[in-house]
Amino acid sequence: MATAAPGARRSQAIPTTTSIVEDHGSYASSCGYCDREGPTSKSHGMHAHVCSVEDYQSLLDRGWRRSGRWMYRPHLNDTCCPPYTIRLDACAFAPTKSQRKVEKRWRQYLDGELDDDGKRVAVDDGDEDDSKRADEPSASSASFESTANPSGDREKTHLEKTRDADATPKTKRLTKRVFEIREAPSAFDEEEYRLWRRYQASVHGDDEGSLGKSSYRRFLVDTPLRLRQAPVREPGNDEEQGGWVEWAGYAATEQKHKENDAGENDAAPRTVRAPPNGFGSFHHQYRVDGRLVAVGVVDVLPKCLSSKYFFWEPSFAWASLGKLGALREIEWVKNASKTCASLRYYYLGYYIHECPKMRYKAEYRPSELKCAVTGKWTTLDDPDVLRRLEGGSFAPLRAPEAAGDDDGAEPKKKDAEKTSRLGEDEVNAKREEDVVSVARDVLVGMAAGGQILQVAPFSLARQGPLGGPAGAALARRIETWRRATGDAGDAIVYLVDLERVAPEVVADGGDSGGASDESASDASDASDASSEGAMGAS
Ligand SMILES: [Zn+2]
Repeated sequence: MATAAPGARRSQAIPTTTSIVEDHGSYASSCGYCDREGPTSKSHGMHAHVCSVEDYQSLLDRGWRRSGRWMYRPHLNDTCCPPYTIRLDACAFAPTKSQRKVEKRWRQYLDGELDDDGKRVAVDDGDEDDSKRADEPSASSASFESTANPSGDREKTHLEKTRDADATPKTKRLTKRVFEIREAPSAFDEEEYRLWRRYQASVHGDDEGSLGKSSYRRFLVDTPLRLRQAPVREPGNDEEQGGWVEWAGYAATEQKHKENDAGENDAAPRTVRAPPNGFGSFHHQYRVDGRLVAVGVVDVLPKCLSSKYFFWEPSFAWASLGKLGALREIEWVKNASKTCASLRYYYLGYYIHECPKMRYKAEYRPSELKCAVTGKWTTLDDPDVLRRLEGGSFAPLRAPEAAGDDDGAEPKKKDAEKTSRLGEDEVNAKREEDVVSVARDVLVGMAAGGQILQVAPFSLARQGPLGGPAGAALARRIETWRRATGDAGDAIVYLVDLERVAPEVVADGGDSGGASDESASDASDASDASSEGAMGAS
């Protein structure tokens, strides 16, 4: 909050339900996942000035992803490594053996049985302190962890064996370590920044010169999402009640889960609670005895916790903190779902089947991939889906004739859509009113910044605010954007830089006020997006 991006002051006045994006269109960059030469990674990009958590949820479900304020969506049928959005139903999650092993080793570390290098600590036989401490509650329970130390075993015999094998026994250490996870809204933090530098240099071999504070901010601190903490109510709620305008999807989603979980068929609940710290972008700090050992950068959205990035102390490589972090984030979702029933998924970003570095994402089960053709979530456990993914080129995940089947992934969807339609239209009408006034404010802000932008809610822009070839060019551009955003784009304010799209209009009547450097900054946004790809592959 302290370091306002340009326009941030302006955005204070914008309702948190409003999204304003600046369309950039298609671009190509080098790929972070394969070693093909040249700009083989192709995406649609836009700069999000602000984005509501609801709109970002919808965009994620359309295959978009953000890197700072830059949002992008790969062209699945044209890019070299087509990525699919992958998610896990956290409430149905069952850990694998190797995931349980990571948990167990971490517990042993917190119990003082391992040193900071993950090595066994030698223990004297018959030490009274030893047995006393074994009765203390486990220290492995972190602030948002609900099930700590389910087995409670201390592995004594293994410990003794290891001690015998260890030629140089370490100093005895049985003091339990205190583990906590602190959640705070996304903000710059010097300690986190230093950890990120060490991580990038040591784990990814990045050049120190590329690890400046501004890169860190752009990639992991800046966010178009704004914190929203008030409870949600059904339509009828308004600004006076905490700034919420209901997103009709809530009722449908929550009703679905209610039916699935308890068989209750009451009317949809009237209120949806926010998770403990609200919705928005957060950093989770993992601390052991106060020392920062890892940071999870996440977005908390109506239906999910979306993992954006995770970095950790390189000397803790033995602890598989990346996996441990994913397990803690899954735990977070489980807990949050108790108060916010719509929130039950864990999004792990993109999944590229042919990319070995990403295979780990499929180990969190049951996982689903979003099929861009059918719009359905399809289970990754289906051999047919796996077969379609082989080879690495884009393929619909389900045969079109099977797409209409109800395989349980989206039960009752049609009914739910029917009942939520009305609410959605009302909400969108209201949002569109808001949007026009907001857009005017933003336009003034932009003009003050020396840029000329066409501002329009999508429906207005579509009617063609401009005539002639410029209007046609804009219309084509908007149609492309519309296809990329789908329903998600319904209520998003669409900004476009006329100087780039229709320079003749600017030359005719415009007072351009000086060329903006937005293209240059977009280009750096775009390179961030591709480097996020490389980083995200870890
Ligand atoms: Zn590639």
